[in-house]
Amino acid sequence: MIPVSMIREYLYCPLKVYTKMHTENVKSCSKMTNISHDALIGFDELIKRNLWHLKGEMQVKEILEELLKDIPEFLDIVYQQYQDVEVVDDVTSNFDILKEDLKFNSWLIAIKTQKMLKTGLTGAEAVNLLFPPSLLEFKIENKENGLLGQIDKIEIVDGVYYPVKIKTNLPPLKGVWQSDTIQITAYAYLMEHEFNKEIPVGFVNYMRVGSKKPVLINTHLREKFSQCSMKLSIVYDDKFPEIVQNPNKCRSCDYCEICQYNTE
Ligand code: SF4
Repeated sequence: MIPVSMIREYLYCPLKVYTKMHTENVKSCSKMTNISHDALIGFDELIKRNLWHLKGEMQVKEILEELLKDIPEFLDIVYQQYQDVEVVDDVTSNFDILKEDLKFNSWLIAIKTQKMLKTGLTGAEAVNLLFPPSLLEFKIENKENGLLGQIDKIEIVDGVYYPVKIKTNLPPLKGVWQSDTIQITAYAYLMEHEFNKEIPVGFVNYMRVGSKKPVLINTHLREKFSQCSMKLSIVYDDKFPEIVQNPNKCRSCDYCEICQYNTE
């Protein structure tokens, strides 16, 4: 099975997929992805728990204090779980950035909550508005085209299912990164086959700036996804891919030290 996350790698550089298939991952990015996901999922759950019992008019700072209860300790536990797997400097500094992003998102939630409490809503009602029912880390396999996806979150609103991708990097100035749009389209494709429902839109949640951006799953995107997934399966058949050299990409590539086509 081909993981959907490989689409992003393929769009970055087709050779990266080929190299990844033939080597052990040489850097810490997959570790960082796992830590981030554990931290983000637990963060949402604790915020919901802490928000649930709030009521009456409160200052934003008071709300924030309530929302953050147990969160620093939880993040320490998540971090410690990865101590035994060679936590390197990159992971440590990225985890510090992630903690800052979560703090920023807590502020945004506190501000929204204050407005809701002011209108007479309870914390429990605020939870329902801010956090629709969802399925987390939902795995779907599609044997027909050999794709395997683990969707960060599927939100369910009025019977409609929406895939949500959680990102820790910055968004582009306008819209959503192309690789994110294709990945969301891949998730929509998997979900349509799994649930037998049309998926008209998905979201990319760029945590760093607290912005959840929509992606309309249109014909153009579906076509792009289909081409990408076809080319990716050719690389998975062990065919050496086309080389697309780009020094900027090589500079931040996980394989820059071992790739002979590195142009940096
Ligand atoms: S070092 Fe450059 S050419 Fe090699 S896999 Fe990475 S991005 Fe591609």
